[in-house]
This record gives sequence, structure tokens and C-alpha cells, in this order.
Amino acid sequence: MMPAPRLEIDLDKIGHNARSLVAQLGQRGISVTGVTKASLGYAAIAETLIGAGVKRLGDSRIENIESMRIGQQSAAMTLIRSPMLSQAQRVVRSADISCNTEIEVIKKLSLEARKASRHGVILMVELGDLREGIMPDDLLACVRETISLPNIDFKGIGTNLACRSGVAPDARNMAMLSELAELIETTLGLKIEIVSGGNSANLQWALSGAKIGRINDLRLGEAILLGCETLHRQPLDGLHTDAITLTAEVIESKIKPTLPTGQIAQNAFGETPVVADRGQVTQAILAIGRQDTDPDSLQAVVGIDVMGGSSDHLILESASDDLSVGTEVTFQLNYSALVRSMTSPYVTKVVKPVLGH
Ligand SMILES: *Cc1c(COP(=O)(O)O)cnc(C)c1O
Repeated sequence: MMPAPRLEIDLDKIGHNARSLVAQLGQRGISVTGVTKASLGYAAIAETLIGAGVKRLGDSRIENIESMRIGQQSAAMTLIRSPMLSQAQRVVRSADISCNTEIEVIKKLSLEARKASRHGVILMVELGDLREGIMPDDLLACVRETISLPNIDFKGIGTNLACRSGVAPDARNMAMLSELAELIETTLGLKIEIVSGGNSANLQWALSGAKIGRINDLRLGEAILLGCETLHRQPLDGLHTDAITLTAEVIESKIKPTLPTGQIAQNAFGETPVVADRGQVTQAILAIGRQDTDPDSLQAVVGIDVMGGSSDHLILESASDDLSVGTEVTFQLNYSALVRSMTSPYVTKVVKPVLGH
């Protein structure tokens, strides 16, 4: 028997998703940076993405890049979160490129690169979502300083939308990024290699037939692993949405009333739940909780509803009474559940097919 709870990771389906996106975007002149931050630096996933034709790997954590580097000596890898000053040495050692917004950090990378080798820099631009990014008016000055630093290769510019504020990538903000690329080229007389338009939220724009301009790279994580775009979380045509699933085991199954008994105060998470009386229901408890996943982003089969969770318990209601003790329930999950389950030491990761078989 397989251990529970577990994530089952289907490399064939992930490979299919990645190949499909690489092909569709390739027709529009856009290459794919395969973002691995939800996959804990697993060598098998990195290998699958490279095999599917992504141009480089991207991760937000240097730890993940370091572990992928062991198996992927020659793959190009980008650190997609601004490096910590305190990690500059590790960054130039293991990542070929990093995304940056602070000249102080780039200066440190330049110093450290002296001892390692050259290091590539992408400057991230703020285009409205108010997460990371240099204000557009300050970009030119920052490029000037960057290209003056020894051992640093200015690789290009990028932006990240739909993350903090949910600002959608569109013709306007993508055209701004293209214009900035051209402004830099004409003013400074250089050629920009990478113009990275964003993440999985950019797919709708990129595949809509819109004018692509200078955008020639997207950094895709969720779309590859979960087969969804991320503005409306709609499945993408022809992609698998069950490449990664979560399975947990029933530890209690009883008929219970929907209405709690007694005075209602705060629950374990500081919330005061409001419940409607729906009579008696079949309630099951699974041995998995908020420590291991995000109950709000799990989806079971029709007829089974996730009602809530505590640190260690997930509460389900079932239309039938087939959730007896010991039964396993499998869920599709969205990104926040995926990231939490991937990083929980209590969730076993089962990768199939086993490479080499
Ligand atoms: C996480 C992240 C991505 C990938 O986002 P997805 O929605 O998983 O495609 C791209 N760029 C940056 C800077 C990120 O932090």
C-alpha cells in the first residue's frame, strides 16, 4: 500500500503540458522559462521540463536551484526572486541569471562574480501590480549602472503582474514593456536578449493573437504543473489538470448534525464560523490539515465537498455514505495547496513513472 497523505506526480502529464505550451508559445516567438518553485527542486521534474523544451529553469529559492544544479550541470537557471544580499555568493555560484530591482544587490553580485564567473542580470520593472520592480522612470539609469559593473551581463528586462494586486497583463502594459526595451536599445546602443513578459497569467494575452511586440519569454509554473491559466483559473485547452493530485485517508466517518451545539466563539484560527442548518449529513475526517495543505484550494470528485480544516484534520461531507474509515480520497489542487503540500514533510511525494524504468 502507498503511504498517505501523498502527492502523486505524473511526469508524463507534466511533460505533455510543458511541450504543449513550449510549442504554442514558440509559434509566437516566445520561449518558456520553466518555473520550478512549487516542485521543491526535484531533479525528475527539472529533467522533465528540460526534456520538454523549456529554454531555462527558473526558481525563487536558491536552495532549489542548488539542488537542481547537481543533476542539471549545464541547464540555464534563473533566480526569479531578487537575491538576498546575504546570499549573493550562492547566487552567482549556482544561478546563471537573477532577476533584480536593487543596484546595491547587483553591485554585490558583481563583486562575488569576480571569484566565480560572470553573472547575468534581468531588471524587473514595476508596471502596476506593486510587487517587485524598478519604477519605469528609473529604469534607464539602472541599466546604465548595471552595464558599467564588472562581471555582470545585462540580459534584459522583465515584469511580473497578477501576483500581489491581480493586475491583468494586457495590450497596454505589455506594450509599455516593449517600449522600454526599445528605449534602452536606442539610448544605450545595445541589444536586449530577454524581455520576460510575466507568468502563467500572461497566457491568455500571449495566445490571443495580440501584438507580441518585443516580449520573447514567459516564466511558467502553474500552467505547466496544473494545466490552468491563473487569471480565472480556467483549464487550458489540451492540458492535463491532474498531473499532480493529493490523496489522504479517512480516519472518522459518521452521521452528524450540520449545526454545532453550544455558544459559538472563535475557532482555532480566530474565525467565528456561521453555519446554516442542513439537517444530518455524512461527515468524514481525513488525516491531513492546514499544516500540510490549503483546505480552501482542494477539489474532490462530484458529491464530496470540503467543509473546512484545522491544523491536522480535513472535514468532508459526502452525498453518499462511501467514505468509511481507511478509504482514500483524491483531490485536484490549486497552487497554494500544491506549494504547501510539496513543502510539508508529512506528505509523501510519489513520482511516476520512476525514471530509468
Ligand atoms: C512564481 C513566479 C512565476 C511563475 O508563476 P506561475 O503563476 O506559477 O506561472 C513567474 N515569475 C515570478 C517572478 C514568480 O515569482
